[in-house]
Amino acid sequence: MSHHIVIIPGDGIGVEITAVARQVLEKTAAKAGLALTFEEKPAGGTAIDKMGVPLPEETLAAARQADAVLLGAVGGPAWDQVAPELRPERAILGLRKALGLYANLRPVKVSPALADYSPLKPELVAGVDILIVRELNGGIYYGEKGSEKDRAWDTEVYSAMEVERIVAVACQAAKVRRGKVTSVDKANVLATSRLWRQTAGTVAAKFTDINLDHLYVDNCAMQLVLAPRQFDVIVTSNLFGDILSDEAAVLTGSIGLLPSASIGDGTGLYEPIHGSAPDIAGRGIANPIGTVLSAAMLLRHSLGEDEAACRVEQAVEAVLKDGYRTADLYRPGFTKVSTMEMGRQILDRL
Ligand code: ATP
Ligand code: MG
Repeated sequence: MSHHIVIIPGDGIGVEITAVARQVLEKTAAKAGLALTFEEKPAGGTAIDKMGVPLPEETLAAARQADAVLLGAVGGPAWDQVAPELRPERAILGLRKALGLYANLRPVKVSPALADYSPLKPELVAGVDILIVRELNGGIYYGEKGSEKDRAWDTEVYSAMEVERIVAVACQAAKVRRGKVTSVDKANVLATSRLWRQTAGTVAAKFTDINLDHLYVDNCAMQLVLAPRQFDVIVTSNLFGDILSDEAAVLTGSIGLLPSASIGDGTGLYEPIHGSAPDIAGRGIANPIGTVLSAAMLLRHSLGEDEAACRVEQAVEAVLKDGYRTADLYRPGFTKVSTMEMGRQILDRL
């Protein structure tokens, strides 16, 4: 069976890093005997310039029909002045909505080769391997909002169904990891959190071999820097997940390393967690690893190719172990490589 992948390079370094990830997918597919077809589509600032909208209809239609979408990054100062409803970031929101993406998966794994790049002591982060599962479609970002002259409000609403499906994603993921799920809420003050906590308990009880515990978000924020190794899978709301996933990301040392997956009812969307990095765009120095690891997540979650995904992850780990570093990670004594050269080194190890 053949799988169809839509690539949305987007803006800035998005073009350079998706080119590398595509080569990695092509080689992995060839090795594994997988048939993959690719199609590149515009979105973001580039699409605004060419077609007047951040998310052209043809891109949306292609994404809906694809087995998976790999996205580089969108946005940049060139489009700072465009109207809010036409901003490049609208492309991501539009895709999330159209594809029914309600779960955002953000793995935070500290590479053994990079433990001393962390702002925390190497012995605290060695072996950290966390998966943050953030609810992406509901909560306070989407609740009723309003403002008057000297008053404003946002409301958080969660239905039991919304909590059930996100906790189920977390439990499913934990089954092939270490079996531990930490549900994060603020149940001592929020009604939505009390529903969250109760529902999480019900869902987790249906999974065998899942160990669920609950943590208040303030405590979780603290624990992430005190003892991050205690976590396996963290599941939480849209707002808390937004904050905690950025906090956890810095434990690894470079934003250029981290992948993400957004999954839901339809096609899954895979992208690095960083933005379009306009300050280094077009210079061939961006770190492609976050996008390459996003491609590995695509293989695992949308195509069911766990073994191929592991092979990509191992190739990345080997390149880092062998001392290859893009500019964001470069230190004397290591081998400095461009985006393309980093790609070649990864391909060599596949
Ligand atoms: P956005 O609003 O889209 O998140 P941003 O301006 O907040 O964008 P990024 O585009 O992620 O942030 O860039 C933040 C910093 O990290 C920049 O200095 C950028 O050059 C650097 N950076 C981001 N991604 C990479 C990468 N893949 N390789 C090297 N450096 C990167
Ligand atoms: Mg940012």
